[in-house]
Amino acid sequence: MTAILSNLQAVHSAIDRAAQLAQRDAAQITLLAVSKTVSAEVMRTAYSAGQTAFGENYLQEALDKMQALRDLPIEWHFIGPIQSNKTRAIAENFSWVHSVDRLKIAERLSAQRPPHLPPLNVCLQINVSNEDSKSGVAPQDAVAMAHAIAKLPHLKLRGLMAIPAPVENLPPDETLAAQRAPLALLRSLLQQINGGKPANISGMNLDTLSMGMSHDLEAAILEGATIVRIGTAIFGKRG
Ligand SMILES: *Cc1c(COP(=O)(O)O)cnc(C)c1O
Repeated sequence: MTAILSNLQAVHSAIDRAAQLAQRDAAQITLLAVSKTVSAEVMRTAYSAGQTAFGENYLQEALDKMQALRDLPIEWHFIGPIQSNKTRAIAENFSWVHSVDRLKIAERLSAQRPPHLPPLNVCLQINVSNEDSKSGVAPQDAVAMAHAIAKLPHLKLRGLMAIPAPVENLPPDETLAAQRAPLALLRSLLQQINGGKPANISGMNLDTLSMGMSHDLEAAILEGATIVRIGTAIFGKRG
């Protein structure tokens, strides 16, 4: 239990250090604790240490833990792959969805968001590593998709999300640059969307870059991450 507390402190220190390197205000970077496979009891410990935003990948697991933790005002983020038959429960129970990568899924989330709740915050997931196996919209389709999603009434498009392919087998002095490249692409796509490029489209005001995991936290903050999604560095290795 105390490990969780010291891990959380260490992650906050790492965020502060990277923000300082990037000459950014650390207060502009939100730590999302990724709690897939982590018990409700352990999440409660993290909450008592001040952690309020949690990211979940699996719907049923998340719903069970929401029930167990319903006495806490946790902000729940869905970050996993989304099947069509799960959109209603996601729209009803989460504040954020980071993993929107098809218009059909966005339309269902909007239609199924209960009207008494504020709009669902969403990020468009981009396949920045151009891997066939990875989910996410191709970078060249991001601008058009962002404009289509922004029209949906019960969603609030906040920005972009990516899970780059891990950088492996590079010497330490080349790893950071290799990690930064796909994250820089995500940042530049957000700038394009906000700047109204290509010409003739009005710019948007997206404020979120959801990028950075335990292994590439520093790279992500150097490239402008506003939400970092950290699991292992807080909760330990998943079994
Ligand atoms: C599991 C997961 C994370 C956290 O990864 P760690 O390496 O454990 O920090 C972040 N984002 C997504 C989408 C994940 O599935």
